[in-house]
Amino acid sequence: MAAVALRVVAAGESFVAIESLASAWGMTVAKSSTTLVELRGRWTTLQFVPLTRQLRVNGTLVWLNDTVREARGRWAINAVDRAKTLEPILSPSRHLVGLSAGLVLLDPGHGGDDPGAVGPEGLLEKHLTLDLARRVRVQLANLGIRSILTRDSDRALGLSERAALVRRHGAHVFVSLHFNATASRSIYGVETFALTPRGYSSTAGGDSSSWRQSAVAGNRHDAANVVLAYQIQRSLRQWLGPDHDRGVRRARFQVLREATCPAVLVECGFLSHPATARRLRSAEYLDALAQRIALGIQEYVRAVRAAAPPPAVR
Ligand SMILES: [Zn+2]
Repeated sequence: MAAVALRVVAAGESFVAIESLASAWGMTVAKSSTTLVELRGRWTTLQFVPLTRQLRVNGTLVWLNDTVREARGRWAINAVDRAKTLEPILSPSRHLVGLSAGLVLLDPGHGGDDPGAVGPEGLLEKHLTLDLARRVRVQLANLGIRSILTRDSDRALGLSERAALVRRHGAHVFVSLHFNATASRSIYGVETFALTPRGYSSTAGGDSSSWRQSAVAGNRHDAANVVLAYQIQRSLRQWLGPDHDRGVRRARFQVLREATCPAVLVECGFLSHPATARRLRSAEYLDALAQRIALGIQEYVRAVRAAAPPPAVR
């Protein structure tokens, strides 16, 4: 195995030259310029965009925890991104040992007096998330994966209560379903959030330093969180196309902080985008969306099963 060069750039942080990762992972450097560093392996192409947090894994956008920067004249990534983004995505089974995946807890966002985002003609996020969660449950059942819902009616449910249901039901995977809205009617696409690792900034920024440093339950599953997020985002991108891919993102949402199993939050489309709002009125579209989410969860479940230690032979 090739030695991986580490260079300490700031106190407590180290950066890894992307070229040295290529040799460690048996990949080749296909391109290295000021706008793109591309590594190619047998099954995987990695594309880093210098001076940004953007990485594409076989085309799927994954936001890094730190910026791709120059160190000793070579493009480098933060070692935390090697450990907590790239290696879990590239070799999931090594990072999922000891986990189970027998029960998925689906969490329809909002409910009751909290409508969530509001779309045109009375389209409410709370109704869509519940409708979608029920359809995901059906799709998972078709794939032989057991799932339950945090709420199966139009009722209010606190964020901590949702996370607490993981423990109460002994769930192994938590998937919160949402739709977003913004002032601009031209923004569209889907994004999947995993909890930001301790010490780093969320994709949208805005984390104070005490917030960045606080230890939360969800960080126990940093590696599994990103594998789950990547598989769901990848599945959605394959169906919707690259222009809908807003990427695997990082945030410190309360349900992700408090979940005691691997957890993600999927923003399944913008209600403020007229064409998306129209599609979301179609049962066929919602079924297809549910199926893509279920297929992403299935890939994660497969990786967990592949990681489980083989039963002892006597
Ligand atoms: Zn929401």
